[in-house]
Amino acid sequence: MNVQTEINKPQTVADALKVVSLRTQAFIGGKFVDSLSGKTLSSSSPIDGSHLADVAACDQRDVDHAVATARAAFEVGHWRNASPNDRRKTLLKFADILQANAEELALLETLDLGKPIANTTSVDIPLTIETVRYYAEAINKVYDELGPSPSNAVSMIVREPVGVVAAVTPWNFPLLMAAWKFAPALATGNSVIMKPAEQTSLSLLRVAELAAEAGIPAGVFNVLPGEGPSAGKPLALHMDVDAIVFTGSTAVGKLIMGYAAQSNMKRVGLECGGKSPQIVMTDCDNLDAAANAAAWGVFYDQGQVCTAGTRLLVQKDIKDQFLEKVAGIATGLKPGNPLDPATEFGSLVDETQLNTVLGYIEKGAAEGAQLRAGGKRAMTETGGYYVQPTLFDGVTNEMTIAREEIFGPVISAIEFETLDQALRIANDSIYGLAAGIWTSNVNTAHIAGRALRAGNVWINCWDGSDITTPFGGFKQSGFGRDRSLHALDKYTELKTIWLQLSN
Ligand code: NAP
Ligand code: MG
Repeated sequence: MNVQTEINKPQTVADALKVVSLRTQAFIGGKFVDSLSGKTLSSSSPIDGSHLADVAACDQRDVDHAVATARAAFEVGHWRNASPNDRRKTLLKFADILQANAEELALLETLDLGKPIANTTSVDIPLTIETVRYYAEAINKVYDELGPSPSNAVSMIVREPVGVVAAVTPWNFPLLMAAWKFAPALATGNSVIMKPAEQTSLSLLRVAELAAEAGIPAGVFNVLPGEGPSAGKPLALHMDVDAIVFTGSTAVGKLIMGYAAQSNMKRVGLECGGKSPQIVMTDCDNLDAAANAAAWGVFYDQGQVCTAGTRLLVQKDIKDQFLEKVAGIATGLKPGNPLDPATEFGSLVDETQLNTVLGYIEKGAAEGAQLRAGGKRAMTETGGYYVQPTLFDGVTNEMTIAREEIFGPVISAIEFETLDQALRIANDSIYGLAAGIWTSNVNTAHIAGRALRAGNVWINCWDGSDITTPFGGFKQSGFGRDRSLHALDKYTELKTIWLQLSN
């Protein structure tokens, strides 16, 4: 990036608003429409607390309209019956259009969420585009099967789209979490209805328009902004939705399962919360790398990451030395203006989240943990919602800050003596999304790799993964997998066709 471009980047919310296209209506049947009630939700920027837009607040009637539209598009079949190669071409065109609008999408994401523009530019948007490209390219390369049938019969085992897929997504990676759902769902020929989180619908509404521009037929890609109980719940309860896929908290994930059970037994996929343990053994031969991963595994995106390694388990002999390093990183990392390309640590998503995080920090201290860094609100004068990177020492696994997902930049450090003890503590959680260990002993690495009950285990790294590897949780972190070819299973029915040739 040249210096001129850097200088021209908007530094205030007001300036940024001049260069983005705000789309605020629901996107149903290939066009933007108001919510049928005419109601809207106010969307604000956590950068400075200012108002961004009034976005359509959809409810039951809009859900009925969107589901009927998505169903009609599925029945007509322009998309589902298109050859995989044609769907591939359209989705690749979609990815190209997203690429052409990448800067604007990154800006929308930063405005709505307060995530540093450096992150949305280098991670959120490129990974969203990569996800669309991956499933576009995958879909004309996966084969169905023929069964081992007798010579007078043919058994075909084929995959078909499930039909109308609804996806309810969170605010922490608004476009990326949405793309992990819509890209494989579209590639396999479904009609989709997306319900973004109320705090962050602006980027996905813009993307809906770009999908139409790429040639995805009307009714195949719909976006219904609105609140969870008003727009998400009726989708999950709808008798004509075939699958509901969800990323968000465990509490809401459980509700979604209930809605599916109460209605039509629709298929459910859940990516929920985490309280991931990161174990550091005395024999780790690169404590600086481990300290960096321990800090950034929680402070990245202000800790609003489902896989954040918030339980830091450190072996007794090196604990003080190690936490000194982590505290140094925490103290050196200052919250800054998310629109400034040099900022590494931005704001939390909203005031509610700020208060939740500050509440957990208070609780940690009240339960006896020792604050080693941070712990306070920051940049209050901006009107935004910033909190300092925070490190607690002396945490036990029974404390609230070791058991509950904080979803903020708070590390809870727990001391242990033996590997067995570390593995027991690590697995003593209702969650099982991710886990990690730092060790130079290959046996320890292998034992931990198998023993840790989590969907992703990282050895001598944190967050090692890409679109080719499945992502999802054990236990109450959910079930079903996003990313990789395994995700195609969620969006397809397996059908057996037995053709008898003669009797
Ligand atoms: P959330 O409160 O569970 O909300 C997630 C989505 O569910 C939002 O769109 C929300 O809508 C909607 N919702 C709320 N109540 C609902 C209801 N009764 N029926 C249907 N939908 C409803 O989660 P969040 O605060 O947005 O995101 C943070 C959580 O997501 C954390 O727990 C984090 O660990 C998890 N997460 C998990 C992963 C993963 O892949 N495992 C990835 C990212 C985040 P409104 O917010 O608009 O009301
Ligand atoms: Mg917002």
